[in-house]
Amino acid sequence: MTYSVSPIGFVRSCFKEKFAIPRQPQLAPAARGVLELVAPYDTGDAVQGLEQVSHVWLLFVFHQALEDKPRLKVRPPRLGGNQSMGVFATRATHRPNGIGQSVVKLDKVEAGRLWLSGIDLLDGTPVLDIKPYVPYADVIDEATNTIASAAPILIPVEWDDQALMQAHQHAQRLDEPLVALIEQCLAQDPRPAYQNPTPERRYGAQLWDLDVRWHYPQPGLIRVLEVVPAA
Ligand code: SAM
Repeated sequence: MTYSVSPIGFVRSCFKEKFAIPRQPQLAPAARGVLELVAPYDTGDAVQGLEQVSHVWLLFVFHQALEDKPRLKVRPPRLGGNQSMGVFATRATHRPNGIGQSVVKLDKVEAGRLWLSGIDLLDGTPVLDIKPYVPYADVIDEATNTIASAAPILIPVEWDDQALMQAHQHAQRLDEPLVALIEQCLAQDPRPAYQNPTPERRYGAQLWDLDVRWHYPQPGLIRVLEVVPAA
C-alpha cells in the first residue's frame, strides 16, 4: 500500500549546503529561516492561533538524501562513521520514506509565513506538516538515550581580524546574527570525525549568500579565515 503526501510549504534557510548544518535543531539558536506556506495553507487560516505557541514540530522530507532502496543499517556520523546501527535507532537522513522531524523555535507568524530559529534544515526543504510543541506531553523527564546521551562537545572558534570585520559587515547587511551563527555551527566541529586536519587544510561552507572559510591551527581549535560573498 502506498500513501501520497505533498508539501504544505518550503523552508528558506541560512543553510545552503548540508556541510556544517548542526546534527539536531536547537544546537545553533542563531540558525534562522522562513517556512513559506503554499496554497491553500498560505491565507492565514491554517496558522491562526499558532502565535500562542513558542515551538513547533516540523515534519519534512530529506529531499537531498532520498534513495530508492531503503537502508536497514546506517553509520551515524556521531559514532565516527565506523559503527553501523539499525536505522530506527538513529536519526540518519537516509531512512525509509526520507522523513525528518525537528522541534524549532517559532519567532513570528504571518499569513503564509513562519519565521523560525534553531533550525537544522537545508534551504528548500519540503515541509509536510506543522504541529505545536506541547510541553506537558513532549517533555519526558526520565527519557534516556545512551547512543546520543549529550549534545556534541563544543570546540573553541577564533577569528582572523579581517574575517570578523567581514562577518560584522555582512551581519548588518543581512540583518542576521551572523557572527553567532558561524560560531555556533563551527563550534560543533562539522569536519567528518575520521579526518585529521592539518593546519594547511582549508574548509568551507555556505551560510546565507556567503562562503565561510576556516582551518584547524591545532587539533580541537577552529580559526575563521574569511567570510566572503559566495562564488
Ligand atoms: N532533526 C531531524 C531529525 O531528527 O529527523 C534531522 C536530523 S539529521 C541527522 C540532520 C542533518 O540532516 C543535518 O545536519 C543536515 O546535514 C541534514 N539535512 C537537513 N535538511 C536536509 C534535507 N532537506 N535533505 C537532506 N539532508 C538534510
